[in-house]
Amino acid sequence: MRRYSSRHRAQVLAQLMAATLVASAVFYAVANSGDSSIVLALVFGAVVLFSLSWMYMRMRRQKNEYLRYHALHDSLTNLPNRSLFVDRVDQALAQADERSSSVAVMFIDLDDFKEINHSYGYEAGDKLLVAVAERLEESFPGATIARLGGDAFTVLLGDVSGRSSATAAAEQIGKELGAPFALAEGEMLVSASVGIALSSGLSSSTPESLLREANVAMQGAKKKGKSRYTVFDPGAESTTGGRLVQEAEMRRAIKEKEFRVYYQPLVSLETTEITGVEALVRWQHPLYGLIPPSELIPLAEQTGLITHIGQWVLKEACRQVRAWQEEHRSATILTLNVNVSACQFQQPNLVKEVSRTLQETGLAPHDLKLEITESVVMHDASAITALRELKGMGIGLAMDDFGTGYSSLSYLKRFPIDTLKIDRSYVDGLGSNAGDTAIVHATIAFAKALNLNVTAEGIQNAEQLTLLRNLGCELGQGYHFSRPLPGDEATKLLASGLRQPPRGEHISQG
Ligand code: C2E
Ligand code: MG
Ligand code: MG
Repeated sequence: MRRYSSRHRAQVLAQLMAATLVASAVFYAVANSGDSSIVLALVFGAVVLFSLSWMYMRMRRQKNEYLRYHALHDSLTNLPNRSLFVDRVDQALAQADERSSSVAVMFIDLDDFKEINHSYGYEAGDKLLVAVAERLEESFPGATIARLGGDAFTVLLGDVSGRSSATAAAEQIGKELGAPFALAEGEMLVSASVGIALSSGLSSSTPESLLREANVAMQGAKKKGKSRYTVFDPGAESTTGGRLVQEAEMRRAIKEKEFRVYYQPLVSLETTEITGVEALVRWQHPLYGLIPPSELIPLAEQTGLITHIGQWVLKEACRQVRAWQEEHRSATILTLNVNVSACQFQQPNLVKEVSRTLQETGLAPHDLKLEITESVVMHDASAITALRELKGMGIGLAMDDFGTGYSSLSYLKRFPIDTLKIDRSYVDGLGSNAGDTAIVHATIAFAKALNLNVTAEGIQNAEQLTLLRNLGCELGQGYHFSRPLPGDEATKLLASGLRQPPRGEHISQG
């Protein structure tokens, strides 16, 4: 049955009313005979009908405009909100690319704003935020200024010639906000910490990466004593100042369940059938988008939160792979590779945790392979005991990124490793770079001599696949087959096989 919306009902009602008016006018005119009164009545009816339709259309347009405006603006200050800001940064980046100039994003956070709310009340706090918004708009006429929430504002400067114009703008913000605010509650003084991020050209910056970098820089300004600006420095991102704040952010993300497991298929090079998946963690940040492991793992390791995150990834991936195994009973059994960081081996109950996870999820030990890097065995002799226990349980062990560390061959004999994963930097040069080709060749031969399996990482084209297959490499992974995929997309890929062109994610690189 067709359902009518309230909009549709209003439209029908308006038409009925108009029709009734026209009908009454016609009736009246006929009742009073005379030809001219019939014409008049008809004209009157048409005018009424036209006016009603026009009023109705106008109301509808106003309502749409109202809804659109409120979806893109902050209701307190009427400034653009995050969505609109991100959109404007995106446009500014495209223009800056054409003109070979830069885009600057400034992240402004008022210092000790909580105190204002505390001392004068929330109403005064709101008034102050509105006054700050007005001052920022006066200081940067024509620029996009947004309120992201709370006391956080952002300013977008498109087409800046370099760092000095951005820092001059930050100094201006400091000066403008430094003048007292005269409110009904009294005169208020505020200061702000400002973080600046500049786009790096060649389209490598995204609105999310600029916002994140400007925020990191702003946190740096707070750490240095507030009421100042800092320009984002990519090299100093993991310095202690920024890290303490980010640690709190990561703890919040754990609580809010913002981590995601992506799955990259492991493929038999002989048959191109999917035989397993590697679990790769990502952080779905509400503000910065998808954060890759290259950014989140170092912080998780420094803060010790890797224990918690690693355990969660293991459990979630075991659960998912077990579900896939149940779904595809007839197909070849699907295995799971999970990365384990060196720090996790310092945790005394790692083996127990892994064993408990297998029991809880029902995944068989021989369907799980833990990927470790050379640093695990190089720096921690006690890891050997744990590795042997894991091996004793039937769990596989792979040496990840082989060839990038010390590549001391002696440990391969001492440790119970059963797979070598050739690092993608070598696979990348396969066929085109003589040195890389020789290393891949030698690694495969060497692995075979030691009775180890070999998996090639980062296979990006058919030529690399053929070369690896001819060298006798059994398994591989890479964008040629599929990028890492979120669980639901991996489910579809497993159901359909690898026939479609490669697909996958886009990570906003910070
Ligand atoms: P990895 O274990 O060597 O994982 C393979 C990485 O290579 C993945 O990057 C994957 O996306 C990328 N890759 C695969 N095929 C290709 C390709 O054809 N071309 C290119 N350019 N890259 C390819 P990702 O997901 O960014 O992970 C990076 C690293 O972060 C991983 O390297 C692993 O060392 C670490 N990692 C990821 N998830 C976890 C985790 O849950 N725990 C721990 N401890 N480390 C993790
Ligand atoms: Mg790995
Ligand atoms: Mg690797």
